[in-house]
Amino acid sequence: MYIVLLGAPGAGKGTQAAMLVEAMGLVQVASGDLFRKALQQETELGKTAKLYMEKGQLVPDEITIKMVLERLGEPDCKKGVILDGFPRNIKQAMALDKALDEQSEGIDKAVYIKVTEGELIKRLGGRWVCRNCQTSYHETENPPKVTGKCDRCGGELYQRDDDKPETVRKRLEVYFAETAPLIEYYTKAGKLLEVNGEGSAAEVNKRLLAALS
Ligand code: AMP
Repeated sequence: MYIVLLGAPGAGKGTQAAMLVEAMGLVQVASGDLFRKALQQETELGKTAKLYMEKGQLVPDEITIKMVLERLGEPDCKKGVILDGFPRNIKQAMALDKALDEQSEGIDKAVYIKVTEGELIKRLGGRWVCRNCQTSYHETENPPKVTGKCDRCGGELYQRDDDKPETVRKRLEVYFAETAPLIEYYTKAGKLLEVNGEGSAAEVNKRLLAALS
């Protein structure tokens, strides 16, 4: 099974993907997390990705597609995958369709998590993320029990460099220009589900599970 989570930065894709992993036993493949890991490990891929990430731009398709398809080829992905942050444009979606088609597979559903622009800006501004397990918190809406510490694993919380206001603006611009057209792409393919992404993570998850069932 392959499920794509679509939505703007801050829509809650990462949070919902982690909840779906628990509920459905699938594997989360998050392109942003793969890039951040490479960046932390200071690999060549990480150094290249950093140049784009810090400006809020997309990492070039050839690099991104290769990285994600390699990840999808790993044995744990046989359990089924939730794609979070990939595809991010039509070229990536077509490359994914082609690669899955070659294995007689395909995307089962693309779930669009819809959140208003004002809410996205508010969420990204106060977002803190666990360095260890990537769980997201919000300083006022969903604070951790102990400031600076992850409730789930005790890891250190940090604010992403690309959550700074000027980079957020650029990321949203890129989202509307490049990623939003995927809503039409998956609608035409008869695969799109739309879910209201406002409210608590638990409420959104309930809607998402209902839509997928
Ligand atoms: P995310 O964690 O999904 O918000 O991604 C953080 C950053 O990683 C993005 O702003 C891009 O610079 C890069 N990135 C993540 N996924 C992709 C993708 N599918 N295509 C190109 N760049 C990506």
